[in-house]
Amino acid sequence: MILSKGFWQTYKEVPADATIASHQLMMRAGLIHKSAAGLYNYLPMGYRSIRKVEQIVREEMDKAGCYEMLMSVVTPGELWQETGRWEKMGGEMLKFKDKADRDLCISPTNEEAITDVFRKTIKSYKDLPLSLYQINTKFRDEIRPRFGLMRGREFIMKDAYTFHATKECLDEVYDRMYEAYENVFNRLGLEFSAVVADGGAMADGDAKTHEFQVIADSGEDAIIYSNEANYAANIETAKTIRKVESAAKTGSMAEVSTPGKATIKEVCEFLKKNEFHSLKSLVYKARNDEEEKFILVLLLGDDELNELKLEKVYPGYEVTTATDTELKALGLIKGFIGPVEISNLDIVFDTQVDLNAAYVVGANKLDMHLENFVPKEVIKQIKTADLRLACSGDYTVDGKHQVELKRGIEVGHIFQLGDKYTKGMDATILDQNGKAMAPLMGCYGIGVTRLVAAAIEQNHDENGIIWPAAIAPYNVSFVAIVKSEEYKEKANELYKTLINSGLEVVYDDRKAGPGFKFKDADLLGLPLQVVLGERDHKEDGMLEIRIRRSGEKIKVSQEDLISKVN
Ligand code: ATP
Ligand code: MG
Ligand code: MG
Ligand code: MG
Repeated sequence: MILSKGFWQTYKEVPADATIASHQLMMRAGLIHKSAAGLYNYLPMGYRSIRKVEQIVREEMDKAGCYEMLMSVVTPGELWQETGRWEKMGGEMLKFKDKADRDLCISPTNEEAITDVFRKTIKSYKDLPLSLYQINTKFRDEIRPRFGLMRGREFIMKDAYTFHATKECLDEVYDRMYEAYENVFNRLGLEFSAVVADGGAMADGDAKTHEFQVIADSGEDAIIYSNEANYAANIETAKTIRKVESAAKTGSMAEVSTPGKATIKEVCEFLKKNEFHSLKSLVYKARNDEEEKFILVLLLGDDELNELKLEKVYPGYEVTTATDTELKALGLIKGFIGPVEISNLDIVFDTQVDLNAAYVVGANKLDMHLENFVPKEVIKQIKTADLRLACSGDYTVDGKHQVELKRGIEVGHIFQLGDKYTKGMDATILDQNGKAMAPLMGCYGIGVTRLVAAAIEQNHDENGIIWPAAIAPYNVSFVAIVKSEEYKEKANELYKTLINSGLEVVYDDRKAGPGFKFKDADLLGLPLQVVLGERDHKEDGMLEIRIRRSGEKIKVSQEDLISKVN
């Protein structure tokens, strides 16, 4: 791209809703434009990175034996009705009617659609296993779209679906996909963890499911792990939660001193009674059409943060929310808390918050008492470390290793689905004995656009993005600091030399000073900058290569340039 003629612009201002680095940098570096909440235009500079991610994903899927296809983004309501998900999907699914009054939706995921393709084509076990995938737009009307491409409403996902006649075959392909995912994230140059995930309603009881989490402090997910025990899981899967959940359901657990339900009000009163004068309780009303859900966040902080702005958000209950300044003081301005849809009990420890912070999250009625999580004695002598320890003490691996916590961004998720969809949609085949059977399925998602944001989240400094080489929009920023016609000509020649050698180059030929150009080059963050400075070149006949990540500067002659850059 020749900048004087190209389509690229940087911005000084950060939009108010951009609270994390990747969102700010993607906006400032002119990679994306917002069109509405959770909707973005991918501009030429940003789209190049997205396509590079897609290509890496595509290559690894092909290598793993999957066939690429493209499904319609709009899917008919009838398919979803067959599995009951037309109702169950909730508010995230954007439904509408066409002019003939037929139900349609913009696909949030495609299990039904792919099962429909399958049942129209495959009739025998002999045609299995089958692995299909697409890289396509998805739409989810997220309760709270935020962080730019990280949690958009419209986003690009790679979704793959596999079909099997036996569990052994499903396991084998699942493992192959797991490896393909590792390859993708390794090729992208990201630090990631594969963690045991919570299958939720998607999978059968003991079916395998893993999430691939890019490690970042701004991540919305909490991961518990123990290196010694070679264990990592999304905190959503944690055993304590299960324990309390089932206790609440059956009301029968010995450890629970006062089993039963507690309302938000009761929890607040309980805390008051136990002299939690430093307590912040924040309740957010989740925007959800189907069901009113609430999240109660109990932040156990220090005494200076005692001012609460009271708001009435739940009929009959006084609940409290903190002001922006308070949230900021708590390190929460980044929005880790907020109306996320959680139907089960969950307990999340936010390692970002210096203060001792335990988030107790629940639905309308909290099916718990705080004592279920934290013994009273411990609550009373509360200290940052104590609380976390008291709670995380429950999270141990093999009854031996205590787990640690870190935050992650879910960039991929793989599931064994069992026969839920094939059974539900009557997609049967004939097995070896000529008997009808519902094949087993696996599904495998990668958030393509989220990955670009996650890569930036992990690779940036105060001056801008530092792209992993594999997904940088271009390879080289060629910065020409030239005045005379002779040198302008020289710069044009050099640009041609660079692109003729196969490099992807952004050529800054704009009429601007060196400071301006270097700022933009750093902000854009291509791996290399090649500098032709007229004054320096007249002195020593050399060019300069700057390595964005290390800041290292290397002088090279024009003859050596191409071999050095490559
Ligand atoms: P999350 O927990 O972040 O809401 P999810 O578990 O709902 O994600 P999946 O249904 O597992 O998402 O979808 C597969 C992948 O799609 C996710 O691992 C993630 O990378 C990506 N993804 C999901 N929702 C979004 C979104 N709103 N914006 C961008 N990418 C998303
Ligand atoms: Mg989601
Ligand atoms: Mg998730
Ligand atoms: Mg998921």
